[in-house]
Amino acid sequence: MTDPTPDPPAFHIAPPAWLGEGAPAAVLAALPGARVVGGAVRDLLAGRAVQDVDVAVALPPEQAAARLREAGLKVFETGLAHGTVTAVLLHQPVEVTSLRRDLLTDGRHAEVAWSTDWREDAARRDFTMNALSMDATGQVWDYFGGRADLAAGRVRFVGDPATRMAEDYLRVLRFFRFQARYGQGAPDPAALAAIRAAVPGLARLSAERVWMELKRLLQAPDPVPAVALMRDTGVLAAALPEAAADEAALRRLPADAGPLARLAALLHPDTDAAALARRLRFSAQEDTVLRRLLDPALRPEAGLDGAALRRWLAEAPAGLETDLANMAEAADGQDRAALRARIAATPRPVFPLQGRDALAAGIPPGPAVGQALGRVRQWWLDGGCVAGVAECRAQLP
Ligand code: ATP
Ligand code: MG
Repeated sequence: MTDPTPDPPAFHIAPPAWLGEGAPAAVLAALPGARVVGGAVRDLLAGRAVQDVDVAVALPPEQAAARLREAGLKVFETGLAHGTVTAVLLHQPVEVTSLRRDLLTDGRHAEVAWSTDWREDAARRDFTMNALSMDATGQVWDYFGGRADLAAGRVRFVGDPATRMAEDYLRVLRFFRFQARYGQGAPDPAALAAIRAAVPGLARLSAERVWMELKRLLQAPDPVPAVALMRDTGVLAAALPEAAADEAALRRLPADAGPLARLAALLHPDTDAAALARRLRFSAQEDTVLRRLLDPALRPEAGLDGAALRRWLAEAPAGLETDLANMAEAADGQDRAALRARIAATPRPVFPLQGRDALAAGIPPGPAVGQALGRVRQWWLDGGCVAGVAECRAQLP
């Protein structure tokens, strides 16, 4: 497989504006023959907004990095071992990856060798719609029928689904992510059959990788059909054993719900949020958000008086109001429009004291400041977040 395979007939499209300017243009100019690969080409052909631009090149990563630097780009060696460097121009990053061939796969990691064969690189990508590549002139190479699959809404593995999933079980989850975003009509039966058989392999994935994919699935405009399909194939039970028995609460969430609100709506009500956050290796921010979303204080019917609601908002991370309201609605399936309206109409209370208030009160700089402020803040919260700055100052020792 070392001889380059002859290219299939390629087709030409009008090059998009982003190809001719900024970082993508500079990278392609510095690396003659390089191509844009993966999601950017897919989304361009699908008429969707292009997010990140990834480029592939038929050079080993050190040589690609040297040429990019010579051309005046900043280069970060973000993943040299698997062939990726990040080129930056005017704060715009472009990931540049050397063409690769798998030497060894074990279901989680791959050992790779650099290649100069574009088809070989496309063959190790997951789905036909993700295996397209395009050069600086708008010439597109489509080795596996990705354009037709994309147009028909077919998420189809490159090669034999069972083999491709055994190489990397993350592809099981990626199937549902792309199905949610690009799938139309019935999902590929060959893929589904192979997925059912691949479920035990999911246990070998790290929880971080599982959560990264799950989160991206939950960011799709409507993740419900894909989640239902995950349940049906046994993937949901393996990847998220904390899931509730059905998608009812998830269905009730409004369309603008964020991924954590959707996760929260998908969980069994008895889920231990802290344990889940640890298991999936949540960031501190994700951990806080999920705990607020699962807070039982939001559940009891009409039980949330003004003080409780203000306390609640004071402790919730900024920007969470919409998801909070959405969760309140999804939690018990009743019409919580009134609570939604109250949440929307309640300004987020802000604790009025700062470090300098404590210093002005004679507290010595250092940990004592935070401790004193923490105690007064608790008093302020207990009182329903209504005390003003003077009253709070009077509480300082
Ligand atoms: P998005 O716009 O959601 O980021 P994407 O296609 O860019 O979609 P990424 O996860 O960023 O998806 O991956 C970039 C590309 O790398 C994919 O299009 C695919 O070609 C390839 N790829 C990524 N992960 C895998 C994998 N586990 N197995 C095979 N190919 C993969
Ligand atoms: Mg991407």
